Amino acid sequence: MSTSRRKAAPAAPMLPGLFATEKTSPARPAHLPPEANIPAIQAALRDWFCTHQRALPWRINYTPYEVWISEVMLQQTQMERGVAYFNRWMQRFPDIPSLAAAQEEEVLRLWEGLGYYSRARNILAAARQIMERHGGVFPRRPEDIRALPGIGPYTTGAIASIAFGEPLPCVDANVERVIARLFDLDSPVKQEPAASRLRQLALRLVPKGYAREHNQAMMELGALLCGKKPRCALCPLAAFCISLHLGIVAERPVPGKRASITPLEVVTGVLRCGQEIFVQKRLPQGVWGNLWEFPGGRIEAGESPEEAIQREFAEETGFNVRVAGSYGIIRHGYTTYRITLHCLALTLEDAPTTVPAARPPAPPILTAATDWRWLELPELANLAMPAAHRKLADSLATQNSLLT
Ligand code: SF4
Repeated sequence: MSTSRRKAAPAAPMLPGLFATEKTSPARPAHLPPEANIPAIQAALRDWFCTHQRALPWRINYTPYEVWISEVMLQQTQMERGVAYFNRWMQRFPDIPSLAAAQEEEVLRLWEGLGYYSRARNILAAARQIMERHGGVFPRRPEDIRALPGIGPYTTGAIASIAFGEPLPCVDANVERVIARLFDLDSPVKQEPAASRLRQLALRLVPKGYAREHNQAMMELGALLCGKKPRCALCPLAAFCISLHLGIVAERPVPGKRASITPLEVVTGVLRCGQEIFVQKRLPQGVWGNLWEFPGGRIEAGESPEEAIQREFAEETGFNVRVAGSYGIIRHGYTTYRITLHCLALTLEDAPTTVPAARPPAPPILTAATDWRWLELPELANLAMPAAHRKLADSLATQNSLLT
């Protein structure tokens, strides 16, 4: 709980102390300290969730598989977008055996656009592990869930509580915000001492027998009411919320240090021979491991994009290329990077000037990829690509004049 106490907001009644109960204004009930009213908070949340929960596809049957996939998909994605991805995924992989039997390339293609591709690779690895070690049945014990590839404490708590009713908390950014405001945590929630306090409170709040409803209610409340601009007048926890009663909702949660954003100047090239375009499959390591791309890389200090792409192609494929034109620039933000991607049209340096140009007689010498293909434009739709490369691939259809 906060050690700093401030004046109540003008709209709130003047409270003799934080836990005032006698003097109340008719407009607002007395404040009920949350620590002393855990069962009432649990009941208020449950009632609110029963009435206000959104109809979501994984809330029909609550199968562990559906809960798992939805939780991982929603970790960095808006709900509406997450539901579209979820439905598409379930049509293709309705159960663990169908997923475990899939090729990684298809899994990555279905995941494309959600980012964080290691999550998709881990989902596939976990499905295969469930087939091998658990006979195809999603494990129930939290320690077995936690042992699956890519599953951390949050996802363990979410699956164990929502699918199996285990009394474990699941604390996402929504829940952090609700708890920080409800209990007035007065330091950044991702750092100590608030992080431990938040975990303790989250665990204390989970009611036995209603973990599924409670955890979803906390997340739903954070998403629907206790957001950036909280709608406290509609909140079932208003009577308990310390921040509301102190008039400091806007100051909670206390912001932590923001990660600095690094700008990156990069270049990529669309090398074409006749109707075919050259693409390569990235090495398995890194955020975009095993995704397909047009070769390219960072523009070094003092280099022009044209010089950089010629160097990159020579280093990564052994091809000598000539710049035939530009498709323009794509700007894209990743977690801690803001990239400016210069997109160039290329031909082989020693390609015959007659049209159609033939493929190079020799295959590429790959140094930053595990595979390569010459593909016609429509075939690029079948590959999983990083977002900026997908943007470029999609735009090629409309800028085709540069390619002919
Ligand atoms: S009363 Fe307002 S700040 Fe407090 S939990 Fe509810 S919505 Fe959030």
